[in-house]
Amino acid sequence: MKNLSLEAQEFVDSAMADTEKQFLLTVINSIPDPLMVIDLDYKVQIMNMAASKNQAFIRNSCIYCHEVSHHPHTSCPDNKKDCPLELVKQSLSPVSIVKEFPLNSKKNRIFEINASPIFNANNELCGIIETSKDITDHLNLEKKVYENNLDLHYLRYHDALTNLPNLSLFSDRLTQSIRKARKYNRQVAVFHLNLDRFKQINDSFGKTQGDKVLSNVAIRLKSILDKSEALARMSADEFLIYSDNINVIDDATIIAQNLFQAFSKPFIINNQPINLTASIGISLFPQDGNNTDELLSKADTALHKAKDESLNSFQFYQKEMTANAFTYVMMESSLTKALQNEEFELFYQPKISLEDRKLCGFEALIRWQHPSLGLITPDQFIPIAEESLLILEIGEWVIKQACKQAKIWSENNLDFNHIAINLSGKQFQDKVLDKKIKKILDDTQCPPEILEFEITESHLIENTSHTIDILNKIKAMGIKISIDDFGTGYSSLSQLNQLPIDTLKIDRSFTLELFKTKNSKAIILSIIALGKAMDINIVAEGIETEEQANFLKNAGCYQGQGYYFFKPLSKDKIHANFYKD
Ligand code: C2E
Ligand code: CA
Ligand code: CA
Repeated sequence: MKNLSLEAQEFVDSAMADTEKQFLLTVINSIPDPLMVIDLDYKVQIMNMAASKNQAFIRNSCIYCHEVSHHPHTSCPDNKKDCPLELVKQSLSPVSIVKEFPLNSKKNRIFEINASPIFNANNELCGIIETSKDITDHLNLEKKVYENNLDLHYLRYHDALTNLPNLSLFSDRLTQSIRKARKYNRQVAVFHLNLDRFKQINDSFGKTQGDKVLSNVAIRLKSILDKSEALARMSADEFLIYSDNINVIDDATIIAQNLFQAFSKPFIINNQPINLTASIGISLFPQDGNNTDELLSKADTALHKAKDESLNSFQFYQKEMTANAFTYVMMESSLTKALQNEEFELFYQPKISLEDRKLCGFEALIRWQHPSLGLITPDQFIPIAEESLLILEIGEWVIKQACKQAKIWSENNLDFNHIAINLSGKQFQDKVLDKKIKKILDDTQCPPEILEFEITESHLIENTSHTIDILNKIKAMGIKISIDDFGTGYSSLSQLNQLPIDTLKIDRSFTLELFKTKNSKAIILSIIALGKAMDINIVAEGIETEEQANFLKNAGCYQGQGYYFFKPLSKDKIHANFYKD
């Protein structure tokens, strides 16, 4: 046993019996990690099979530790900074270091080396016992686990198919929004959206195509919503949205309408366009619920109501809100398009002389032919147009149309006195209303004296000085002025006196009630008397019977309008009725 240090010699030869030596070999070879006993001269005294990579030996040749571990051909650098033996020599205690070695000329591997001192009988250091462990895979795994952990966290709060937040994250965010809304006295709307008949898509095209559609729905919904609206996929074909940007209920309706936009274009499945619709249930904080769970549950109830009543629709939890909001928003958004799509038309209701029953004029009445809702009467949409000020554009269109028609009829032998045009009170908010009218007269070359503007009595008593000013300007152009629905607004004589009025139109409710209530008759008679006293023309509207027509004529009202004579007629019907040749 050449080159064996005295201590190692003692350790291996003297201190151990052969049987014990055998036992030691068995023990150290069963250790899966490399193990070496190294003396103070860097010579390996003992190493196991894992270290030698073939067989364990107990000092049968002179081999240096660097040859075993990492530098088979060169010794370690002089500084030996990270040499376990050197470190143990300095500290005389166990050390643990991490080192990177090339292994089998492959990529470097990382090892954790643990070295413990070996002392002789005199308690002097005589070597170390060193184990090393390749921790490269472990570190890689740790790194993966770390990264994987992040994924796990993401997955816990997101839907894997669409990458949208899931119910859990949505609920957290909604809870925070409710908290804020409570603090700042705001409203929050929760939308529960469910695809209509989605099962059919899965059944007909398979789950993979179904998943593609769901991903596309998510993309479309996402592109529609702004930051204040959080979107989540709740389960299969159910999505949740909330918005904390709700000031009035219509804001929620507008969002619902926008959500429907996601389904306006078909989805392409197997190169085939497939139309898909959705239903939406809406709940509102604070009126429908005080917390996340309540709002989610109410939105779900509302969704079921929407599905029951009609697919491709939305429902508020409180049903009465739905009808109002739906018509309002439907109308408003379609009204904006109606002008450019030329969906409006003017009808003309003849005004008849009650003495000779001849035509004396027309009242222009707007009609809206909605592409899917059909005919919508002005009572249904004028108030909405007035609220959104769309009435200014619509009103201008009416004036222009009526002027064009008046000019054509006046030049084509139609014997009529005037065409009456209804002016909404809101049109008086237009500072340049008179200038617009003047321009239309110029553009259409319509003679002003064949025009009459009707303005309701109720508007006149609410707004005096500005309205009077505009009416005077209109009157100065040569256009006549008529007060519509007269008798319902209780205007005073002194107010009437200040106005440049040509005509008073007895409201049709009095005509209707003429022989039913004493009051109606008394009011009609006093309006006729007032007209006579002030030299104002009187027209009765809503005449439905000969009896009414006769009574009015005998009472001194010389013009009338009503279904008894004619309903409002299209331009073509006017031609058919009034052109002799
Ligand atoms: P209005 O100015 O009082 O118009 C008369 C309304 O009474 C018309 O309804 C007409 O069809 C209806 N009517 C006429 N004769 C009879 C009758 O004998 N019996 C009954 N029951 N009704 C009769 P319409 O066309 O539905 O218009 C309703 C209201 O809409 C109008 O009331 C007017 O306030 C408004 N409106 C119509 N066209 C316009 C317009 O171009 N601009 C503005 N600002 N408002 C309009
Ligand atoms: Ca009218
Ligand atoms: Ca009227």
